[in-house]
Amino acid sequence: MNRLVITDKANCTGCGACQNICPCDAISMQWDEEGFPYPLINERCIDCGQCIQVCPLINPLPTYGESLEDATVYAAWSNDEERRIQSTSGGLFSELALSVYETGGVVVGAVYDEAFMIHHMVSERAEDLGRLRQSKYAQSDIRLVFREIKQFLAQDRSVLFCGTPCQAAGLRAYLGGVPEKLLLCDFICRGINSPKAYAAYLKMLEQRHGAKVVKVQFKNKDKGWNQFHTKVTFGNGSVHHQDRNTDPFMQAYLRYNLVIRPCCHICKFKEDHRNVDLSLGDFWGVGKHASELDENKGTSVVLANTKKGKRAVEALDARVTSRVMSIEQVYGGNICLRQSVVAGNNRGRFLAELDQAGFKKAMQRYGRPPFITHCFSLVKQAAKKVCCWIGKS
Ligand SMILES: Cc1cc2nc3c(=O)[nH]c(=O)nc-3n(C[C@H](O)[C@H](O)[C@H](O)COP(=O)(O)OP(=O)(O)OC[C@H]3O[C@@H](n4cnc5c(N)ncnc54)[C@H](O)[C@@H]3O)c2cc1C
Ligand code: SF4
Ligand code: SF4
Ligand code: SF4
Repeated sequence: MNRLVITDKANCTGCGACQNICPCDAISMQWDEEGFPYPLINERCIDCGQCIQVCPLINPLPTYGESLEDATVYAAWSNDEERRIQSTSGGLFSELALSVYETGGVVVGAVYDEAFMIHHMVSERAEDLGRLRQSKYAQSDIRLVFREIKQFLAQDRSVLFCGTPCQAAGLRAYLGGVPEKLLLCDFICRGINSPKAYAAYLKMLEQRHGAKVVKVQFKNKDKGWNQFHTKVTFGNGSVHHQDRNTDPFMQAYLRYNLVIRPCCHICKFKEDHRNVDLSLGDFWGVGKHASELDENKGTSVVLANTKKGKRAVEALDARVTSRVMSIEQVYGGNICLRQSVVAGNNRGRFLAELDQAGFKKAMQRYGRPPFITHCFSLVKQAAKKVCCWIGKS
């Protein structure tokens, strides 16, 4: 049989290149028991082997653009206050998107559907920007957008694509390179979460608030940029608003590493080359290098890895405030640029019990620090009490 067989799930990112290339539409992306999409091949398959050839994990792609050490690094933000506040970081994606719409191009990014599940879409209208912007913290279904992108490029239209580094690699593999009219953009990526776990989290919140979700915003900035506030609004006007230390989904993602896709724990896209025109991210710790660059409203890091990427940033000109920085200044606050996140000890058990237990109970069982860390924090608390007692007596 000359067709894809996935023997090790850590070797599939769910990028969708195989689904897009299949000439027989024989591949659909189906959730596994952990709730991550993987390709499933049906009886229409003719064993042509194109899905194997296109897979960027089976056939690693040649490098594209400069290495990290040679990329031009910026700290930047949108000068439009509202766009900046509505964005996850400094709103650079929005400014790039607007400049592409203005020249008659199309923008491809992740949006929520009616149930707040996530998928990529191609947009020809700047009115869609409100849906496209902001980080969504579960895996986006790429659908058949690579085929649409190919058609727009064939019509000589400019295309801005933004997604995870592995999705960008999937697109590059599907197109066989990066055409001049494509501005390929990714972001520094900590890892992508299970759509099933994210859906279970929303269900838990709906039960708690007694109404349907009407808006989801991760990294909401009502109380500032750097505390990762999650704000979910419900049909009855009630609001869930918690920071990274109290919101259960952010705890599962950032603290206990319970909901991340297997491939992310050995990510193949953290090499010396980013292989895209532009990489976006949060410039965590930028204030340490220049206090005026951290207004707690969102400062983006932008890595211009190609001449095309650099031209695109320079063309933003009066739309953004930017300053050239060094890659070392980025490393300090953003280890995910080079390192994969280690899976939490209870990751497998958490995801396996999610269907039966629901998000709240699964978190009560598995959302806790490893035994050693727990003991260490108990000892620390006890030591504090003793010091306090000695101080008083
Ligand atoms: C899952 C995830 C993990 C991240 N991890 C880090 C990190 O460790 N360090 C860091 O510095 N930055 C990280 N980022 C990037 C950061 O959150 C911002 O998205 C980025 O800095 C761009 O910000 P912005 O203000 O320019 O634009 P925004 O408007 O915030 O970015 C919007 C674009 O990002 C893309 N996007 C959003 N959600 C998804 C998704 N689920 N799948 C694919 N594409 C999506 C879309 O194309 C979207 O239109 C992560 C983003 C995501 C989605
Ligand atoms: S092309 Fe992408 S989705 Fe298909 S098998 Fe390879 S990594 Fe998985
Ligand atoms: S072998 Fe060809 S027909 Fe079969 S799933 Fe792969 S791409 Fe589709
Ligand atoms: S961590 Fe790596 S494998 Fe996981 S979504 Fe991000 S780029 Fe893809």
